[in-house]
Amino acid sequence: MYDKVKEHLVKEISEIRNAGLYKNERVIVSPQGANIKVNTGQEVLNFCANNYLGLSNNPELIQAAKDALDSRGYGMSSVRFICGTQDLHKELEQKIAEFFGMEDTILYAACFDANGGVFEPLLGEEDAIISDALNHASIIDGVRLCKAQRFRYNNADMADLEAQLIAAANCRFKLIVTDGVFSMDGNVAPLDKIYELANKYNAMIMVDESHSAGVVGRTGRGVTELYNLKGKCEIITGTLGKAFGGAIGGFTTGKKEIIEMLRQRSRPYLFSNSIPPMVAAAGIKMVEMMSKTNELQDKLHENTAYYSNKMIEAGFDIKPTQSAIVAVMLYDAKLSQEMAAKLLNEGIYVIGFYFPVVPKDKARIRVQISAAHERQHLDKCIAAFTKVGKELGVIK
Ligand SMILES: *Cc1c(COP(=O)(O)O)cnc(C)c1O
Repeated sequence: MYDKVKEHLVKEISEIRNAGLYKNERVIVSPQGANIKVNTGQEVLNFCANNYLGLSNNPELIQAAKDALDSRGYGMSSVRFICGTQDLHKELEQKIAEFFGMEDTILYAACFDANGGVFEPLLGEEDAIISDALNHASIIDGVRLCKAQRFRYNNADMADLEAQLIAAANCRFKLIVTDGVFSMDGNVAPLDKIYELANKYNAMIMVDESHSAGVVGRTGRGVTELYNLKGKCEIITGTLGKAFGGAIGGFTTGKKEIIEMLRQRSRPYLFSNSIPPMVAAAGIKMVEMMSKTNELQDKLHENTAYYSNKMIEAGFDIKPTQSAIVAVMLYDAKLSQEMAAKLLNEGIYVIGFYFPVVPKDKARIRVQISAAHERQHLDKCIAAFTKVGKELGVIK
C-alpha cells in the first residue's frame, strides 16, 4: 500500500523543490542569541530570530527554570483539569493577566493552540468573526474550526473593516480579530480605529500580540499599550515562544467569563498536556523582570531606530516599521535568495521571503532586531548589507 503513497509524496516533494519552495533547516549548535554557531562551524550574527528581548539565553530565566526543575520536577504528565495544574501555572496566569491589564489568563502549549481553541467555544453560527486578511495561520485555522460566519477585511484597511461590520450587522455577536504586529511588514494593527469601529458596530476585539508583546509600547505591553487601550479589548492571545523567553507556551488573556468558558470547552486546553513547571517558573520570572524595568524595551527600540535609519541612509528601501521587524524590500524572489546567501557568507544570518509567503513581486529580506544586538553587531550587519547590496546592484 505504501508504494503508491510514497510515489505520490516523492512527486509532490519534488514539485515543492522545483518551485523553489523547499524549506531547509539550518542547524545551530549553540544557544540562541545574537552570535550563533552553526553545524558547519561557521559563527554568524543572527538577525532572524524572534528573540526580541534577548531572553532566549538569559541567565536569570535559566536559573528560574533550573530551580523549578529541582523543586517541581520535569513534566506534568497530565492535562490541566485532571492533575496538570501546579501553583506555578496559576501564578503565571495571574502575572500575564496583570501584565496586559486583563482579568484572567489561560495557558496553552503554544499560541497556535490558544488561537486554535479560542473561537469555537465562544461563538456559534449566529455570530460573526471579522478577520484581517494577513492574520496568522493559527487564527485562520481556529476560525475554520468554529461555526461562526466569516468575514475578511484587507490588511489594516479600516474602510473595508467597516464594510464587513455592516455586512455582519444581523449577527448576534461580532468579534474583530487582528494580529498586533504583522510579521512580514512589521506594521502595527490600527487598534485605535479598530476600537472606534468596534464601539460603533457593537463588536468585540481580539488581538494576537505574539510579535508585539514585549516589543511594542513603551513598556512592552503590546499594541493595546501603544494606543492607550490597555484592558479595553476583550481577548488577547500571545506566545511565550518569542520575546518572552522563546521556550514554548501560549496564552489567552481577557475577560474572566471568557477565560472561564475556555477552561470548560477549549479543546487544545482540555485534551493536551500542561506546560512543564520549569517553563511556567521561567515565565513568572520573565514577567517579574519586565515589571521592574524597561531597559530591554528601550534598547530594542533604540536598536531598531538606529538600524532602520542607517539602512535608509545607505539607500535601501525599508518598509516603515513600528515593531522590531525591518523588511528590506528587494521585490525580486531570486534576488532575495541570492542576497541572503551572500549575507550568510559575510556572517549575517537573515532570510529572504517571497511568494506565496508575501505577495508576488514583493520579495524581501526580513531583518529582526533584538535587544541582544550590540551596536557593533548592527554596524556589521549594515556594512554587510551595503557591500552585498552594491555587488547585486540593489543600491548604488
Ligand atoms: C508565532 C505566532 C503564533 C504561534 O505561536 P507559538 O506559540 O509558536 O505557537 C501565533 N500567532 C502569531 C501572530 C504569531 O506570530
